Amino acid sequence: MASKGKEGARQRPMSSNGKSPKKVANGKSLHGETGNENGGFLYNFFNYTLSPLLLMAIMPNFVMLIWYTAVHCDGSYVLMIQRLIENGPVAGMAKVWSLVNIGTPLSLYVIGGFALFTLILQVIVPGPRAEGPITPKGHIPVYKDNGFSCYVISIVAFAALTYYLKQHGMSTTVVYDHFGDILATLNVGSFIFCIFLYLKGRIAPSSVEHGSSGNPIFDYYWGTELYPRILGVDIKVFTNCRFGLTVWALLVVTFAVKSYEMYGFVDSIWVSTVLQMAYLTKFFWWESGYMRTIDIMVDRAGFYICWGCLVYVPSFYTAVSLFLVNHPVRLGTILSLVILGAGLCSITINYIADWQKQIVRSTDGNCLIWGKKPEVIRAKYELENGETKQSLLLVSGWWGVARHFHYVPELALTFFWTVPALFTHIMPFSYFIFLSILLTHRTFRDDQKCSKKYTTYWKEYCSKVPYKMVPGIF
Ligand code: NDP
Repeated sequence: MASKGKEGARQRPMSSNGKSPKKVANGKSLHGETGNENGGFLYNFFNYTLSPLLLMAIMPNFVMLIWYTAVHCDGSYVLMIQRLIENGPVAGMAKVWSLVNIGTPLSLYVIGGFALFTLILQVIVPGPRAEGPITPKGHIPVYKDNGFSCYVISIVAFAALTYYLKQHGMSTTVVYDHFGDILATLNVGSFIFCIFLYLKGRIAPSSVEHGSSGNPIFDYYWGTELYPRILGVDIKVFTNCRFGLTVWALLVVTFAVKSYEMYGFVDSIWVSTVLQMAYLTKFFWWESGYMRTIDIMVDRAGFYICWGCLVYVPSFYTAVSLFLVNHPVRLGTILSLVILGAGLCSITINYIADWQKQIVRSTDGNCLIWGKKPEVIRAKYELENGETKQSLLLVSGWWGVARHFHYVPELALTFFWTVPALFTHIMPFSYFIFLSILLTHRTFRDDQKCSKKYTTYWKEYCSKVPYKMVPGIF
């Protein structure tokens, strides 16, 4: 965003590419303002129409290809690409889709049944009140902090269902057997759900944090509301946490059970499963902290984040487990323990970094970080209504090592839950490669956001902590 000074100091919603979506092709803004500060017609057309259209066309096919590669191409991208080239990309893609059926009774029962179950939990399970960060327009989102309870209930219910079905000669691994149908149905269902969210934001927004860019394609892709609610149910809590991340956990367990049914105990898939489950358990333990991250504070409830959590997370994030089902690797006890230990250390460091930021803010700096009173910057910023607020920027602990050092253990952990697949194929490393790019990009995106919000205070922080992620390197 080119605006400077006081205007630049205000918090703004930003697009996935880190630019403000405020100005779009037709010159209208999200907040009804006009201008052309983001460049000319071609720039706007590329960023706010063409890129979203391409992403929305490519990504649903991409997740089907991940499944196709794991299940039909022996986990080999080379084989998958060869087949696509043999048939031609369009006919090849059509062939992949011809292998699945959209809206089969089983996929509808599985998706609908789980969505209803998790929605009921979100509503009825008690939890203390938690607040999200104040928005540029002064709105404070309020949540029920019941994520961990809902997660534990879901896992226990899944274990009970697996046991019950086994007694009756059935198995929850039917989800693996029909994963293609389920993924295709989820894809279509999520597209429709995002149309509903787009219309809801236009017709009946839930809070002041809503708006239209004047470009329906961009609005559909990016969303029209930051904090949509339906009958009191927070939509982003549902899509991101209760559905997306819980399904991730349930799928990796399902795939591990499938592996067990096929070959008995195989250490590699269980090492990967334990690490992924530990990560997700940590996530739900800390869920109220997630409500203060970019996904929630910045990303509106549109295709980008909602399709991402409803379809991309369950399909792409679980790729290593999907791969391991038909690639049983025997690691041996020592290697398994080394990988497990390294992964658990990474989770702990990442958790401590997130915790340090939270505890410093909740105690107004009156706490100990690494045994000492922390150094903080009392950074002032201005809301859109002109009101001045203050946040603490932590300069000690992991936040003094680099500005986003916590992404390093996050990436290390992903590596450790992938490496049990060893190095015979690239496919299981897909998520690790993707996350490396995502988090590196995020360091720029977050710096840009914080620099606009905190201006000189952020400069002061950057001068004290000069590196983005890896001290001395980047
Ligand atoms: P961060 O935890 O990096 O938080 C960024 C925000 O924290 C900033 O926008 C700013 O918000 C505040 N902040 C920045 N610097 C400081 C500081 N020095 N002291 C105090 N507050 C500061 O957000 P993310 O959403 O990127 O990450 C949250 C967690 O999620 C991490 O553990 C990360 O590893 C993980 N993650 C996982 C991903 C995955 O797909 N697996 C993807 C992305 C993240 P404010 O406006 O409040 O000042």
